[in-house]
Amino acid sequence: MNILVINCGSSSLKYQLLNMDNEDVLAKGLCERIGIDGRLKHEGRAGEYEADLPMPDHSAAIQIVLDALLDKNHGVSKNVSEINAVGHRVVHGGEEFTQSALIDEKVEQAIEACCEMAPLHNPPNLIGIRACKKLMPGVPQAAVFDTAFHQTMPKKAYLYAIPHALYDKYKVRKYGFHGTSHKYVAMKAAEMLGKPAGELKIVTCHLGNGASICAVDGGKSVDTSMGFTPLEGLAMGTRSGDIDPAVIPVLMEKEKLSAQQVIDMFNKKSGVLGLSGVSSDFRDIEGAKKEGSAHAAEALEVFYYRVAGYVGRYAAAMNGIDAVVFTAGVGENSATTRAGVCEYLQYLGVALDAGKNAQRGKELDISAEGANVRALLIPTNEELMIARDTKAVAAR
Ligand code: ADP
Repeated sequence: MNILVINCGSSSLKYQLLNMDNEDVLAKGLCERIGIDGRLKHEGRAGEYEADLPMPDHSAAIQIVLDALLDKNHGVSKNVSEINAVGHRVVHGGEEFTQSALIDEKVEQAIEACCEMAPLHNPPNLIGIRACKKLMPGVPQAAVFDTAFHQTMPKKAYLYAIPHALYDKYKVRKYGFHGTSHKYVAMKAAEMLGKPAGELKIVTCHLGNGASICAVDGGKSVDTSMGFTPLEGLAMGTRSGDIDPAVIPVLMEKEKLSAQQVIDMFNKKSGVLGLSGVSSDFRDIEGAKKEGSAHAAEALEVFYYRVAGYVGRYAAAMNGIDAVVFTAGVGENSATTRAGVCEYLQYLGVALDAGKNAQRGKELDISAEGANVRALLIPTNEELMIARDTKAVAAR
């Protein structure tokens, strides 16, 4: 069974074709600059190739992806009918979706209803779904939500302490994101520790450009750091994370900005980029710190401190932890970040083996021998998780 995984952003589209009989990746790639001009990066049977191709909209981009998959030289399929199902990453599923869903008219409407809560993400996700329906009629399509894994959070974790009527009327609450990644690495951690997920308390740290942490108790999400939107929680590449909302009117007044402009600043110009003044990329900031930038050093320390703070909070939420997992771009690749975070976690029983921590990008227990709480390095694989869910949904 071949499954095409589609992750549609506002001007980009990532894809992977997987053979789900053995979970092999047959082809993958990226369409960029959709709506501007269009660029395809494709990796298939004949290796990698890049091409400038007109992509006036997502529909055109998906047609280009299908052409690349069927291409005589670079492609991996002979016919579109060899694609048995399509799995779409959908960012926000609200309270409606506690698991992945087979897309029909009703599901589409429910995803549309969530656009208000994720105006940057859900609309392109929907466009991708509609384009695939048009180009591959009759092929089952599944929606895999970033929020679904976190729907097991108890009320005490997801309610904001504001008038209850606002939750009742507008569903203002914590939703959490990156659920597909948190679920994947938590399951993988259980496998690595040789215990059933049901018996483990794990804190998963998804540290990429966007970053969030999740408390996984017995295989279920019981708390997570992102909130109503992906702005809450950790300091991130360009996002502020937690901040006193009373700062907003002050900045509106002093900087002559609208509320939306302040939020844009918290989303796009803050985090380690805002603090360091260097970059949102941890490689650049680590480099600047080495060259003596005090702001770069501060930005990194704020990041480590906040990650460690959330790990401690979730250790309290679960009354102890068995393992801390590091994943995503920064978590998988930056040994300095893992060491910086774990420095704060010695009281919990976390201790790193410096030699093991120096490795990157592979599944590895990086703890020192005898450490009570295991530290694990696990590359995430959201595409595989989406493909697995799509396979299950299509078989229902
Ligand atoms: P997202 O999917 O949220 O865009 P990723 O999970 O791909 O982000 O992470 C991207 C980030 O990973 C980059 O911005 C960079 O900061 C970080 N990164 C990648 N490689 C390294 C490395 N070798 N050292 C430190 N940071 C790295």
